Amino acid sequence: MADSKVHRSFHPTPRTLMGPGPSDVHPRVLAAMAQPTIGHLDPEFIGLMEDIKSLLRYAFKTQNTLTLPLSAPGSAGMEAAFANLIEPGDKVVVCINGVFGMRMAENVRRMRGELVTIEDDWGTQVDPQKLRDTLAAHADTKVVAFVHAETSTGVCSDVAALCTIAREAGCLSIVDSVTALGGIELCVDAWQADVVYSGTQKCLSCPPGISLITFSDAAAERVKARNTAVQSWFLDLSLLMAYWQGDGGRTYHHTAPVNAMYGLHEALLMLHEEGLENAWQRHRAMHDLLFAGLTDLGLNFVVDAAYRLPQLNVVSVPEGVSEADVRTQLLEEFNLEIGAGLGVFAGKVWRIGLMGYAARAENVKLCVSSLQNLL
Ligand SMILES: *Cc1c(COP(=O)(O)O)cnc(C)c1O
Repeated sequence: MADSKVHRSFHPTPRTLMGPGPSDVHPRVLAAMAQPTIGHLDPEFIGLMEDIKSLLRYAFKTQNTLTLPLSAPGSAGMEAAFANLIEPGDKVVVCINGVFGMRMAENVRRMRGELVTIEDDWGTQVDPQKLRDTLAAHADTKVVAFVHAETSTGVCSDVAALCTIAREAGCLSIVDSVTALGGIELCVDAWQADVVYSGTQKCLSCPPGISLITFSDAAAERVKARNTAVQSWFLDLSLLMAYWQGDGGRTYHHTAPVNAMYGLHEALLMLHEEGLENAWQRHRAMHDLLFAGLTDLGLNFVVDAAYRLPQLNVVSVPEGVSEADVRTQLLEEFNLEIGAGLGVFAGKVWRIGLMGYAARAENVKLCVSSLQNLL
């Protein structure tokens, strides 16, 4: 049967992306990705892989040898962390204060770990004292997992404190820094975090599709000492390292998304040029600008200033205003995307991202003025 539909090339309307991700992509990153594809074992591509690993160590503030990108989005970083560290029966404490903590718990279940959860209210931090108490009651715990920057609630938890508690209890830590990397302070080595993963689409000004992960020596030892095979072939660290690190020659594992790696490289290069501390400072300054503008409009920020993420702002929807209608109008009239609330926040808040290339004064002005126009 003939297909009567007329098919045409796709040309998206340019939008300003100020939701929870993906965020605005820098033109330099898009240009890098439009370059000719080369083979994934081409010496030039192998040189690029080396450079990406070195720039990733800069971004994570780590000397970890096992620092690499994974050819799949941030969620794959999460799955890789749990798949490699956990063996069936291992006791794992997961601290939950939003959607991504819940997903971590689901990963533990699927890896057949023995799950212990700690819950904190949405919009508040992971409570270090609860972790201390839980580890005292579960002395056989092997791994502690929590989210650094909880994108569903706009909350930053104290990674250094939580990793210290985990380490003192003889546990390895898994830290979700998907929304943190490039936007707020993250010091993998100084904070002695064991497995930390992130993604390209939040504060790196890069499209979605790649995750970034780093393993401490202790975590690498744990993976080497496993009694059972990692249940995911694709995410098995030992196989991935033969591809990303193979001495003298790379072993074919999968075909890296070559052009996506050009984009990641350019994004990491730009972060390096700007300087990590300057990037953190820019996100903070743009948050202050947004806070002033939205507060002037009478809008309230949900998260306490002490642990509010500058790059992900959760704002209450005013009484009598339709949360979804405003988002639709922002998109249709101003080509501006902001995010909806999830879970207990659904229908009650907007999530306004200031991530990576989106953390610019012109974006803040657009967001404030269009909301002013609609409210
Ligand atoms: C976005 C996000 C993820 C998942 O990343 P994807 O690229 O959507 O797979 C995981 N954790 C947190 C905290 C996130 O914000």
